[in-house]
Amino acid sequence: MSRELKPLLPKAGKATFGMYCCGPTVYGPAHIGNFRTFTLQDVLRRTLEVAGIKVKHVRNITDVDDKTIRGAQASGESLQTFTQKWTEKFHRDCAALGLLPPHVEPSAVAHIPQQIAMIKALVDRGHAYVAKDGSVYFKVHSCHDYGKLNHIDFSKLETQSTNSAGEANDADEYERESASDFALWKSRKPEDGANYWSSPWGEGRPGWHIECSAMSLEHLGATFDLHGGGIDLCFPHHENEIAQSECATGVKGFASHWFHSAHLLVDGEKMSKSKGNLYTLDELVAKGFSPMEVRYALIAGHYRSSLNFTFKGLEDARSALAKIEKGTDKLLAAAGFTRAEFVPPVQQEIQTAWGRFASAWEVLQNDLNIPGCLGQVFTVLGSKEEISTEQARHDISGLAKILFALGIQLFTIAPSVGIPPEITELGAQRWAAKQAKDFAAADRLRQQLTALGWSMLDRKDGYDLKKN
Ligand SMILES: [Zn+2]
Repeated sequence: MSRELKPLLPKAGKATFGMYCCGPTVYGPAHIGNFRTFTLQDVLRRTLEVAGIKVKHVRNITDVDDKTIRGAQASGESLQTFTQKWTEKFHRDCAALGLLPPHVEPSAVAHIPQQIAMIKALVDRGHAYVAKDGSVYFKVHSCHDYGKLNHIDFSKLETQSTNSAGEANDADEYERESASDFALWKSRKPEDGANYWSSPWGEGRPGWHIECSAMSLEHLGATFDLHGGGIDLCFPHHENEIAQSECATGVKGFASHWFHSAHLLVDGEKMSKSKGNLYTLDELVAKGFSPMEVRYALIAGHYRSSLNFTFKGLEDARSALAKIEKGTDKLLAAAGFTRAEFVPPVQQEIQTAWGRFASAWEVLQNDLNIPGCLGQVFTVLGSKEEISTEQARHDISGLAKILFALGIQLFTIAPSVGIPPEITELGAQRWAAKQAKDFAAADRLRQQLTALGWSMLDRKDGYDLKKN
């Protein structure tokens, strides 16, 4: 918002860094453009954790909107069955890419009352109005700092309360030139089928923008530390989230920091269905690339720059990972460990050994400079310097922390090979419950896994699933 770099720390007096990320719309498989954003958020979270900051990571599931309703109807399934299927697929892809499950994963459908309450507050405070058909709109001109994230001059902002045909504008997305009052609540239409809820304004469903405002308030409070998403969400979605939240709660400073990742291009072109370049993880795996290679290719560029995704890039990722693996084994040998014996350092040891990887860590902490950090890692791994066992032990401790921050899983077995999807899903849920310290739920999920003939072996930074 300020276009400046600022230190990321939890708000004064708070122990936890609250991070809200706009999650997937579950109407089909996520593509690599979506996963670039989620993977960069994962690296940010891991980096904060390695820096000793306790993070509460909230990432929502959009399970009611035009696309999910249309998809469910086309497949003949209920909205719930349809979105559950794609949510589970998303979780499997995330696990394969080594993404840590968020601590809370709220869904829009599970937060209808919270969304209605927020819309009601906006109507009561004069920031929203009810249209003739029972839809509710946010009155952009009632919010005097609307546009502050995207640096839009409010005094020059001409908002439209109707579109060119004279109808209220119920589209969720629009260009900044045509900033308009946007729908908070959409009155029930025949095409919604069975997907509607009662509200003080009649039957209908929430608009898209309000869900993130309601869920971030519920799980992180009126203000929190960082909000993330792809750059395409910066306007109008995030601008609208700020307006709704601050106008509903009366508290300014919705998110202290914004983390937007730049676009992903494929072979130099914008991704689109018609070009056939909206790759999914499964398609890349079918072409012979591992999820870890895909992960590496997605994080290898700086988050502020658009990344050109190519098959050459995936091959480069493969050789880079091989180089890291070889270098790591050499260091392990110099330190007197085998890969199986080596236990990555726990977070408490962070401030201690970094060895020659201290500079890589410094670089990573400066605006999450992943390419710079990788450059430093390769410089150290390629060095011909003779080192003592003790130095090698410091080095390997530093390298393990860097690899954890980047989510490069060298000390583990690939998580989802040959594991049935429902087992992967249960494993992900149990790990999320454990991270959220909901031990009762974690125990219950472990028992379910045991009953299905699987066991879960916890490590410090993740887990392995093993058939009994
Ligand atoms: Zn959002």
